[in-house]
Amino acid sequence: MISQDFTPELSEKCAVFGVYTKTHYAARLVCTALWALQHRGQEATGISTADGETIRTNKGPGLVASVHTEEALNKLPGHMAIGHNRYSTFGSPFSHFQPCYTEHNLVAVAHNGNLPTVDKLREFLIKNTGKGLDHHNDSELIQEVIEFYMLKEMSVEEAIEKSFPLFTGAFSLVILTKNKVIGLRDAHGIRPFSIGKLNNDEGYAISSETCGLDSINAEFVRDVKPGEMIVIDDNGLHSYQIAKKTVEKLDIFEFVYFSRPDSFLYGKSINEIRREMGRQLAREKKIDADIVVPVPNSAIPASLGYAEESGIKFDHGLLKNSYIHRTFINPVHVMREKDVKLKLIPMKEILKGKRVIVIDDSIVRGTTSKKLVHMVRNAGAKEVHLLSASPEVKYPDFYGIATPTQQELIAAQMSVEEIRNFVGADTLQYLSYEGLIKATGIPEEKFCTSCFTGKYPIDIGEHAKNINFKV
Ligand code: AMP
Repeated sequence: MISQDFTPELSEKCAVFGVYTKTHYAARLVCTALWALQHRGQEATGISTADGETIRTNKGPGLVASVHTEEALNKLPGHMAIGHNRYSTFGSPFSHFQPCYTEHNLVAVAHNGNLPTVDKLREFLIKNTGKGLDHHNDSELIQEVIEFYMLKEMSVEEAIEKSFPLFTGAFSLVILTKNKVIGLRDAHGIRPFSIGKLNNDEGYAISSETCGLDSINAEFVRDVKPGEMIVIDDNGLHSYQIAKKTVEKLDIFEFVYFSRPDSFLYGKSINEIRREMGRQLAREKKIDADIVVPVPNSAIPASLGYAEESGIKFDHGLLKNSYIHRTFINPVHVMREKDVKLKLIPMKEILKGKRVIVIDDSIVRGTTSKKLVHMVRNAGAKEVHLLSASPEVKYPDFYGIATPTQQELIAAQMSVEEIRNFVGADTLQYLSYEGLIKATGIPEEKFCTSCFTGKYPIDIGEHAKNINFKV
């Protein structure tokens, strides 16, 4: 389904998962993993399966549990499957579900990431297929070009190798044909991607995060290398290095916010790194206060770290209503503000009369902070000190996590003092950039830090014109 109201350059962000198994439960395994990866996208979800003969797909808007019902899963036989959860702040929420495929049904593709420039890809397809592709998004263009080469009698591996130079951007892709499950990662490895081995030698899985592998008891083998293609079929797992020149640049925002705390990136625990961010924050920003309160759930590890290092008591002064999805998911600003109120609940008996440190993992638009500072004060707090466990987000993301435009990023528009005043906190402080890098224990050059520094490792094309690099 192709919508008419889609802005092609603003694409979907997401979770992907693929599995090749000797049993016939591939769809169930993917469904379980998509559940574990639900935090990476709640807007839409899809599963494609293959049984050697045909590819079948179930996809639609909503959460994994509501789209992949028992009835739907029963219609997805096969020992190979790929899956997708979509996270999108732009474009129509009612179309462009993944995995994407065409009427040829030769190959299904699901994408985590974003191609900031698709001109080369689009031009190639228009020239070679004569199709008008105006309403295709980046993932659909990727699928079409791979299929174009397959229709020319190339193997899927050859088709991917031929298409690869046309993909400019960030991608962890899972690709399904009638008899293969394939993983493909961009030359910078911007979005995470890991390989796991199923129990009893039953096959392999590839996942956006290691927590997806854990959910089906697959044993972590290693991360997919930047520029690497992983092919899994009856003959096992094969690796092909497609990109000759690779510079590893995993997005640091995965550590700050996006990944689930029980996942591992670069072999390190997200939970432990977030705690260290909190400890580092406590070393850098000392505050005389009574309690440390996390913005649940993403800032819990950092707040525990802050409390540990500072000796200030940790308490759950804010509760999260788990039945409301992430605030960013609602593309309409007014609704987003309302969502914050529904999502966070102040615990009056904990906050009343206290000097409170509230810690969030990041401040992006400032909408959440303003609401919650107000909320904590209304609940009787004597002082509210807001801390961000990451530095000022000054630059938009173009590689798949959908931060807003630079105009909407509060730290790109206001000084720290102005933001403090805007959110109504007694004090406001951010973790330093150096402190963030130090907390990860990973060399800075191994990260894409564009949200904080404006250094974009992959061409962002026309978008660069709209960015003020001096904020
Ligand atoms: P705000 O400052 O109101 O825009 O929202 C900041 C909150 O959104 C923080 O609590 C983060 O946990 C969360 N957040 C940060 N980055 C993202 C993102 N790319 N997508 C969704 N939520 C995010």
